[in-house]
Amino acid sequence: MTKIYLDNNATTNLLPEAQEKVLGIMGSPLNASSLHFFGRKAKSILEDAKHNILNSLNGDKSIYEVVFTSSGTEANNLVIQSFMHQNSVMLVSSIEHISILETAKLSGISKTISVHPDGLLNFNDLEQKLAQIQRSSKNESPPLVSVMLANNETGVIQNIKEIARISHKYGCFMHSDIVQAFGKISIDISDLDIDFATISSHKMGGMIGSAALIKRKNLKINPMIFGGGQEKFLRAGTENIPSILSFGIAASLSQENILKYKTIETLRDYLEKEIQFHSSSAKIYSQNATRLPNTTCVATTGKDSSAQLMYFDISGIAISSGSACSSGKIESSHVLHAMDYHDTLSSNAIRVSMGLNTTKDEIDIFLKAWKELQNK
Ligand code: PLP
Repeated sequence: MTKIYLDNNATTNLLPEAQEKVLGIMGSPLNASSLHFFGRKAKSILEDAKHNILNSLNGDKSIYEVVFTSSGTEANNLVIQSFMHQNSVMLVSSIEHISILETAKLSGISKTISVHPDGLLNFNDLEQKLAQIQRSSKNESPPLVSVMLANNETGVIQNIKEIARISHKYGCFMHSDIVQAFGKISIDISDLDIDFATISSHKMGGMIGSAALIKRKNLKINPMIFGGGQEKFLRAGTENIPSILSFGIAASLSQENILKYKTIETLRDYLEKEIQFHSSSAKIYSQNATRLPNTTCVATTGKDSSAQLMYFDISGIAISSGSACSSGKIESSHVLHAMDYHDTLSSNAIRVSMGLNTTKDEIDIFLKAWKELQNK
């Protein structure tokens, strides 16, 4: 049975261009802290990757810097824990990735900003909470606002430029988790005017094992992992050079790949039209909001998401539930809850996330299986 992969928001295939280059260095002893020839080679791979990443996000090298970490989860922890240790109030959206929500909660003084049923941030709530924080502020460290650019479950894209403008007006710093958006839509971090951003290699065609926090150079953060002086003392531990190489290549190909996602968007629209034509009760979450070109979160009556996942798995199709799915266990989705869906329908939500190589034939096979399931 041919296998069809429609779970690209979980992780992507390694880009062939990256695979070729990584295989070329895989056997080499590449520690970027070593002063010898191999070390210098590792260091130059690392610096090239930083250059490619900033270049593809229009981040001015004199303003922004890249701190490599092992995962997007770690980069989110790095920025949130740093503000937590400075006793800053944190304001995070209710649909953030769990690595933001759980970490911010630890501070005991974080607040969440609500979203509307379409998944877009509630600006009234943002302004009210910012004003509240300003009134009660005892002149401690500036607060941090953290709102993701694109949501992993629904694909909803937020107006980060406006959120950053408002946050700065109230004297806050702005962090955005751009993990899902990087490589799928054009991003200009200078224009967005954000202070921190999180990115992750394996979500955009690079290898698992490297990610980064991008930060303004003039802003200080506290390290989370101590030891050697790697990453300018902000993240100790030998850098994962093969993964970083793949990350840099994925970044340098991102403009090209963003264009390819235009075709994927047409496929996504085709998929949704077919689903709605076949089932009038099908609910596509955030359908009218601006979304990533590859993501559909859909629910229908009758079949819960775990039963659907199993059915598709047996049919050779990899998708995921719209629910938070980590360690293989399915829990109800905090994202759909935050969007005010508490009904049984939302526990039936599945997520189809296409990749650069997804074809119409694959979508037709998915649709055939989906329709058969509806008729069961
Ligand atoms: N942020 C978002 C929006 C994500 O979707 C994910 C992973 O699903 C992460 C952060 C965590 O990234 P990583 O898998 O590199 O830890």
